[in-house]
Amino acid sequence: MKDEVLRCIECGKEYSKNEILYSCQSCGNLLEVVIPLEDVDPVELRKKFDSRPLSVWRYHELLPRMRLSSPISMNEGGTPLHYCVNLGRQLGIDELYIKFDGMNPTGSFKDRGMTVGISKALDLGVKNVVCASTGNTSASLAAYAGLAGLKCIVMIPSGQIALGKLSQAMMHGAIVLAVKGNFDDALDLVVKSSKELGLYILNSINPFRPEGQKTAAFEICDQLKGAPDSLIIPVGNGGNSAAYWKGFSEYGMIGLIDGAPRIFGIQAEGAAPIAKAFEKGVEKIEPIKNPETVATAIKIGNPANWKKTIRAIKNSKGTSFTVTDEEIISAQKLVARTEGLFIEPAAASSVAGLIKLIGNEKIDRNERIVCVATGHGLKDPDSAIRASEKAIEIEPSIDALRRILSK
Ligand SMILES: *Cc1c(COP(=O)(O)O)cnc(C)c1O
Ligand SMILES: [Zn+2]
Repeated sequence: MKDEVLRCIECGKEYSKNEILYSCQSCGNLLEVVIPLEDVDPVELRKKFDSRPLSVWRYHELLPRMRLSSPISMNEGGTPLHYCVNLGRQLGIDELYIKFDGMNPTGSFKDRGMTVGISKALDLGVKNVVCASTGNTSASLAAYAGLAGLKCIVMIPSGQIALGKLSQAMMHGAIVLAVKGNFDDALDLVVKSSKELGLYILNSINPFRPEGQKTAAFEICDQLKGAPDSLIIPVGNGGNSAAYWKGFSEYGMIGLIDGAPRIFGIQAEGAAPIAKAFEKGVEKIEPIKNPETVATAIKIGNPANWKKTIRAIKNSKGTSFTVTDEEIISAQKLVARTEGLFIEPAAASSVAGLIKLIGNEKIDRNERIVCVATGHGLKDPDSAIRASEKAIEIEPSIDALRRILSK
């Protein structure tokens, strides 16, 4: 098999996979990894995949190849595709699933990309890694950098990240920098730090990270024994939705699935440049200066992957639209109460999006539908407590308990 290359998504210029690059040197657009698929035998590959447990590295034939003897891994991926009996019944959908990627080692899908990204960092021989983060990327990078023995710097928007995520980055020993600004300011600084100080970037502009993330699409197809009809997914920077589309497309090209799902990209009303572009019907975004939403993981005003994402969603024949913070929190509660899954607000935006699609009759109730739950609810205990009824204080007596239960 040939080696993979890096290719500019706009002008098509190719670069060696051993160059440290995040954007095209002639036109400035992002790069993607092109895995050679011509010589792949689907029957052989199917056999190989089926002989291994479900996980990111189960699919290593379709992932970047490294000179390492083994990847830096904590067994990421292999997350449940939860069949939603109760929620499905309530919404009148027969085949509704939640891909619970909050079940990854550090509690979000970021681990799928990070196992590939950190392995690549070692492969390239870098010593220092950096990211900007609304929280989950920093938690994941801190953990994987620790495992790989690399020095890790994470930049978070000061005072704006959920407590669980912050505690992870700190506990795993990253240098945590609270940038006075929002996520977009932090990412600008990261890009500069890479140019000026040679730090290796592990945000989703790193072309190797989406490679790991695309395995979630492979897993869903393998878990369903075919592609779903619709995939509903939160969109922040847009790296994940583009990665899913890359995964479905590659599986299709190899001949491991027929067809591919429409992708619905969900944004929070106060942070929705991609949804706005779809509303206007243009392939261009207008960045939002001060994004606002309870779903901090998608609180992004200037999504770095906007071009990849808009194209991915369009090619899938899907669309992007917004949900409100109230809809997000109410979907989060609904999933927790009907399905037993505790997912963070950003993750719940996919279910809020589904409810809207059903309401507008934009989606058929007979479809096979997958909502992606990108992160675990324990990441953001503050917002969960704020959204819930207070605990009821009682005297330790059976009479007090009886009074409460009789209400
Ligand atoms: C990172 C993240 C997102 C957004 O993913 P993008 O690739 O930036 O679109 C959504 N939900 C959670 C929980 C995340 O951690
Ligand atoms: Zn280019």
